[in-house]
Amino acid sequence: MQQIYDIAIIGGGPGGIGAAVEAKVFGIQNILMIEKGDNHSQTIRKFYKDNKRVDKNYKGQEIVLEGTIDFRDGTKESTLNYFDSLLDKGEIDTAFNSEVESITKTGDEFQIVTSKAGYIAKYVIVAIGTMGKPNKPDYTLPISLKERINFNLDKCSQNEKILLVGGGNSAVEYALELSKTNNVTLNYRKESFSRLNDINLQMIQEYNGREKLRLRLGMDIVSIENENGLPKVHFTDGYDTVYDRVIYAIGGTTPIDFLKKCGISFNEENKAEFDENYETKTKGLYLAGDIAVKSGGSIAIALNHAYHIISHILKSHQKQG
Ligand SMILES: Cc1cc2nc3c(=O)[nH]c(=O)nc-3n(C[C@H](O)[C@H](O)[C@H](O)COP(=O)(O)OP(=O)(O)OC[C@H]3O[C@@H](n4cnc5c(N)ncnc54)[C@H](O)[C@@H]3O)c2cc1C
Repeated sequence: MQQIYDIAIIGGGPGGIGAAVEAKVFGIQNILMIEKGDNHSQTIRKFYKDNKRVDKNYKGQEIVLEGTIDFRDGTKESTLNYFDSLLDKGEIDTAFNSEVESITKTGDEFQIVTSKAGYIAKYVIVAIGTMGKPNKPDYTLPISLKERINFNLDKCSQNEKILLVGGGNSAVEYALELSKTNNVTLNYRKESFSRLNDINLQMIQEYNGREKLRLRLGMDIVSIENENGLPKVHFTDGYDTVYDRVIYAIGGTTPIDFLKKCGISFNEENKAEFDENYETKTKGLYLAGDIAVKSGGSIAIALNHAYHIISHILKSHQKQG
């Protein structure tokens, strides 16, 4: 007979790890964390630059952690190490390289289908984040430039002429890092930065105009075309130039189609519907982390969602028992 998990957690980022760890702390042993990547925390691994500073109170949001996880300021590496140790200590059962394709409720149980196997669980927590689907601009990006137009730093090398697009902390941190070994222009459609932490704001002002980093603020990109295998970028001020690489750092989008397929309802503003316990209209199916915030999630917020959900599952379980 197939094993029935008490809780299946979809996504192995901070929300998923938080849920798995808190469940174990509360004594729920029979849990499974399913992650599509080959390791946990794909957003941190793929989208944070190496040695990136990781703020607990990200983007100035003061968060008091409610659960047992003692997450603190650190770096990309120390954060990943900390999550490694939590998963090891909690002896969390994980299924990596397993992309969840559908979640269906039949009677009191959920059937979860992944790219590799099927699982059954009594409760499901979906914490899949939004960076699996990075935001793209409205204009069409030439397919022939796929290798030259990116959404993270994976393909970057050295001595390239790079255009970075975005106005948040990630865009600025990417620009500062890349400018150590490349020529970087940071393009933001607004006249000034309004969402940066103090350090990033100070550094970008200090570095602007230095040899390897300049800003193009208050203008947008109209289109990008392929010129001899490189992206030629046309700006709203009539200026155009050819770059070796264009990198967009403009956030991510909730995977609406996937969530709808899992039976999660959406309101008129196309936001997933869930109650104060993060439970969707399907009883026993919860949303945590970035997919459960209107905008601007963080690691600490995801961890608090996880704690809250596990406490709620425990309460409803006790009621039923
Ligand atoms: C560049 C950048 C810098 C940031 N810096 C900070 C910071 O300094 N401090 C801070 O607090 N926050 C920071 N954030 C925000 C923070 O990373 C997110 O708020 C946090 O990771 C959200 O956690 P999550 O668990 O909701 O989702 P994620 O971390 O996105 O994790 C989701 C996981 O689900 C997996 N997944 C997706 N779809 C499926 C599927 N169908 N099946 C199975 N698995 C799936 C993904 O592979 C991923 O591992 C930053 C974000 C970015 C992009």
